[in-house]
Amino acid sequence: MPVISADFWFSRNHDMILSQDHFFVKNTMHNSAPVIDSQKSVKEALAQNPDSLAPEDVLETLRVEVVEYVGFDGLIHQGQIVMHKDRLDDVLAFFELARKLSFPIRSVVPISDPRYVWDDERSCAGNNSSGFNYRTVSGNPTKLSRHALGVAFDINPVQNVYVRYDKDMKEVFRFPPNCFYDKEASGTLTVDHPLVVFMKERGWVWGGDWTPESGRVDYQHFEKAL
Ligand SMILES: [Zn+2]
Repeated sequence: MPVISADFWFSRNHDMILSQDHFFVKNTMHNSAPVIDSQKSVKEALAQNPDSLAPEDVLETLRVEVVEYVGFDGLIHQGQIVMHKDRLDDVLAFFELARKLSFPIRSVVPISDPRYVWDDERSCAGNNSSGFNYRTVSGNPTKLSRHALGVAFDINPVQNVYVRYDKDMKEVFRFPPNCFYDKEASGTLTVDHPLVVFMKERGWVWGGDWTPESGRVDYQHFEKAL
């Protein structure tokens, strides 16, 4: 009976061992636990702003959903978004595509979080992406935002800034302040970006298509009215 030396066995099986190791490493990375950005109960996620209570019929239409995305650190992150139930499928498809494209997203945390306390400017300053917030539109305290019905969401406000203009098209307000829209920067939405094209095909409006003539440009914002 021929004796198979250890060297022979190793050379025969080396590639297999290597590829198994490789597979194991890749597989481990793929299956590693995501970085948790938000893990709230439904009650916590839907906690109400005492200064701006949403009506019961609005609250009934809202859903809290887990989303996964690639962070700016290259790791998979897990967050939560609050949306109207009839807008959830499109938004989940958006996040799925963003993950496939490795489009980085800083965090997705409901606005009820103690860091933001329903304050959109705090959430934007933290580069947080979010959906529902029972609030009025920026610059108009009498007009309810589409976010108030959970039919709008914002992505990476630091890369995708909000800019307001006066009637002479002069910039009067920018949020977050000192942030500039750079089409080449990672995490930035542009008119020909697959994520923007994808949402517009589904009937969503992208705020980056608004113009200074209309009074504002809102690169972070997607909405689809009911
Ligand atoms: Zn918005």
